[in-house]
Amino acid sequence: MPRQAQAPLPATSRPRIRLLRRHNPSVLILASGAMLSLLMLGAALAREGTRGAQARPARIAEPIFQATPLLVESVHNAARITPDSAAAAPPPQAPAWAVHPMIFNGRVLRPVRTIRMKVTAYCPCRLCCGSRAHGITASGMSVYTNGMDLVAADTHVLPFWSLVSIPGYAHGRAVPVLDRGSQVKGNHLDILMPTHAQAMAWGVHYLEVTVWTYAD
Ligand SMILES: [Zn+2]
Repeated sequence: MPRQAQAPLPATSRPRIRLLRRHNPSVLILASGAMLSLLMLGAALAREGTRGAQARPARIAEPIFQATPLLVESVHNAARITPDSAAAAPPPQAPAWAVHPMIFNGRVLRPVRTIRMKVTAYCPCRLCCGSRAHGITASGMSVYTNGMDLVAADTHVLPFWSLVSIPGYAHGRAVPVLDRGSQVKGNHLDILMPTHAQAMAWGVHYLEVTVWTYAD
């Protein structure tokens, strides 16, 4: 059959086919190279994933204190509320504490003020609480109250059951003042930790502590 009799390909498609054919080998090499590196990356990620999964149970087994919180907290996105964000300029519609509420004992809180405080840490041991340490705070509540997330303060500054949030403690949630001590005077907080090692590791910090009250 004469060549002219064939229906010619549309002018636009012809160069595209030639181009594809000419570049096909290199395109294939590039594509297979990319796929290979993706597979290797996938394998590496899978290995990381298994390693992470194996490491996790060890961490879960670590806490000795499985304290039953007497005060049940259901905090949604509480970590987002920091004293900084609470102190920032109010949003146009509603205050930050109303949008992402800080909750204690099932009730919404609102910030009252921030105080710059010396923050030290203690644990229920005899070194920290003396030879008469018996697991009961000065307020009469057990050290296991609120999952051990509680603090000692000068009750002239912050009376018992005042609620405070301390950056870096209890995931930034509001915790109650349930204890006091002869060494805890003025703008000084002593935060309770489950172990002596954790209390020692905290050291001394000077932090902006937010005081909260019930919003209802
Ligand atoms: Zn201790």
